Amino acid sequence: MKITVAQSAGFCFGVRRAIKTALDTARKGVSVEMLGDIVHNEDVVQQVETAGVSKVESLGDGTGKTLLIRAHGAAKNIVDDAQRRGYHIVDATCPMVKGIHTIVDDFYKRGLRVIIIGDADHEEVQGIKGQIDAPVIIIDSAGNIPWENLKGVEHAGVVVQSTQKVENVQAIIAALRPHIRELEVCNTICKATATRQQEIKTLPLENDVVLVIGSQSSANTRRLYEISHNLNPRSYWIQSQKNIDLSWFEGAATVGITSGASTPKKTIDEVVRFLKKINR
Ligand code: SF4
Repeated sequence: MKITVAQSAGFCFGVRRAIKTALDTARKGVSVEMLGDIVHNEDVVQQVETAGVSKVESLGDGTGKTLLIRAHGAAKNIVDDAQRRGYHIVDATCPMVKGIHTIVDDFYKRGLRVIIIGDADHEEVQGIKGQIDAPVIIIDSAGNIPWENLKGVEHAGVVVQSTQKVENVQAIIAALRPHIRELEVCNTICKATATRQQEIKTLPLENDVVLVIGSQSSANTRRLYEISHNLNPRSYWIQSQKNIDLSWFEGAATVGITSGASTPKKTIDEVVRFLKKINR
């Protein structure tokens, strides 16, 4: 079997930076807490926790403690609350997500209604929404537009969760345009996501079997898997080599591998090694 690993597989720039920030902070010997997971990958979370960063569900007394803001960012009120409680803040928010925060703030100051294209429950979207003190409209698909909330909206600015599928964004914008007089759109899908999505348009067509590696909690891994599965039904979403079923490769001459943005290279290498072993 010929094995091809997508060039974009492995950590994106923002995840690599966030993990480094977490490990560097832990190394300083201070008490470090993070609200939820640093990124959506269980192995990375474990690595960061082993290094000394504690995952907490809510903020407590922050005296003498550091709060690490995750790659997805956080709402302003969470950061303000942490500072009031005495936490020192270390911000590992990806600069691309920070950029979205700045755009939203600018829309708000210019009097535009803010629309976010993304998954309402995702931490990145919650963080974007929490940058301004005004209601925002969140849309996840063209078939699910909350028209009631858009009544009377004439001026709006759109930003996009960094890991959205470009086709989904285009469909939503096309549906909104006829209804909103002034619609300013900033396509904030990040470059790392765009490259991954571009590669996944050919990988499933050029290979008999495709493995998409990433946590079940990773939204960008899910999107890659969906695109791949649409193009090639022999696409499988695995978290690690342990999930591989040998029957998937019956009669296959080629295997393509890609991963979500928070999947460690080590996990990808283990999958490749495993495939090479069964290949012998
Ligand atoms: S996927 Fe994009 S926005 Fe998200 S952490 Fe990676 S580089 Fe940053």
